[in-house]
Amino acid sequence: MSRPITRRALLASVIQATGVAMLAPSFGCTDRGSLQALREELQTLRGARVVVPPLKGFRDLRGVIHTHSYLSSDSNGRPEEFLAGAQQAKLDYLVMTDHFDPRIFTEGLKGQYGDLTVISGAEFPLGCTRKRGVTRRCGSILGFGFSSSLAQTFSPDSYSKSELIAQIKRYGGLVFLGHARGVPNLQYFEMVHGMEVFNIADTMRERYLSVPGFMINLFATQQEYHEELLLSVIERPNWLLARWDQLTRTGHRFVGIGGNDAHQNLNVLGVLVDPYGLVYRILNTHVLVDVQDSESAASPSANIILAALSQGRCYLAFSLLCDASGFQFYAINPLGTPIAMMGDVWGYVPRSQLVVRLPRVGAIEIFKNGVPEFRTVGRELEYTPSGPGVYRVEVFLKLQRRWRPWIISNPIYLLEER
Ligand SMILES: [Zn+2]
Repeated sequence: MSRPITRRALLASVIQATGVAMLAPSFGCTDRGSLQALREELQTLRGARVVVPPLKGFRDLRGVIHTHSYLSSDSNGRPEEFLAGAQQAKLDYLVMTDHFDPRIFTEGLKGQYGDLTVISGAEFPLGCTRKRGVTRRCGSILGFGFSSSLAQTFSPDSYSKSELIAQIKRYGGLVFLGHARGVPNLQYFEMVHGMEVFNIADTMRERYLSVPGFMINLFATQQEYHEELLLSVIERPNWLLARWDQLTRTGHRFVGIGGNDAHQNLNVLGVLVDPYGLVYRILNTHVLVDVQDSESAASPSANIILAALSQGRCYLAFSLLCDASGFQFYAINPLGTPIAMMGDVWGYVPRSQLVVRLPRVGAIEIFKNGVPEFRTVGRELEYTPSGPGVYRVEVFLKLQRRWRPWIISNPIYLLEER
């Protein structure tokens, strides 16, 4: 979302910081003792993790979509900073989405940087739901993975929004709606590949009015518990999930992704509240890439990652709770043969089953057409679906006596044969 730099100086360093501030009380952390207890519980939770063998022919890649750098007016992040952040967060891929500036074509990073695949893209404003008022929200277009030849004729200011979307697609790019709650016109949902089901910056902004407990704790503990304090940003995105379910229920593939919206721009009295390394670890969009051929197994290229994203072979994971790598959700026929992966649109087969595997025990909830249909606690589940429908999974982990969202899968579309 475009935020003029004049608003940033005060808002970013004071109001946004106190906005982040209210996050802490929801976790009940008001002193070093309770933060230490939280840390220990988190270590126990992460320690119970096992390695899930990958599904044959696929590899699970961890990535971040929606990040800004100095090419955006509201960030000063240098390439060496976000590359180091990607390394800290153990990312396999990073999707850049600077507010559009022609320099993304000349200075923007793209390609392989060690083990990291950087995919270039841009964010474009899409309008707002209201002109004024506290509930004003602004949506955006996230376009990425387009060919660099787009630069020759690209003129976003002269296009209508639908022309802009078409142009990015024409050059091989994917288009997602960012800050999807602020998208002013429902027709845009029909033009794109998918939407952000979570946006970290929006979640922080929604919480403006609380007490500055976060900053007090951050300073009082000399940032020792920065990671634990940021855990409070993790919440179930109820509105966005309901909207997403409404769109997928028709059987039309519509891909859900995570939006980190990282800027590394909240500096309060010399303390960096949102360093790339930490914001990249809060939330990840994992993709399952096809590695049938040896070339893609060695170093998955941007094209293979983009193909998996466009097919919905991906899931969101709040990695700050626990690494979700290895999560599996697929359908098998009565003979036990996999027939559909996340994102696949497939004919419903009677007595087929949905398989869920986790790297640690969690509460697994199966949704059919947006409605919760089954819930259990475990590490593995084979579930017989109740008939044709659009099925997806959410997984929750218990921390400090509350179930926290951990994994949100893309749906498998098991449709009635026509
Ligand atoms: Zn953004």
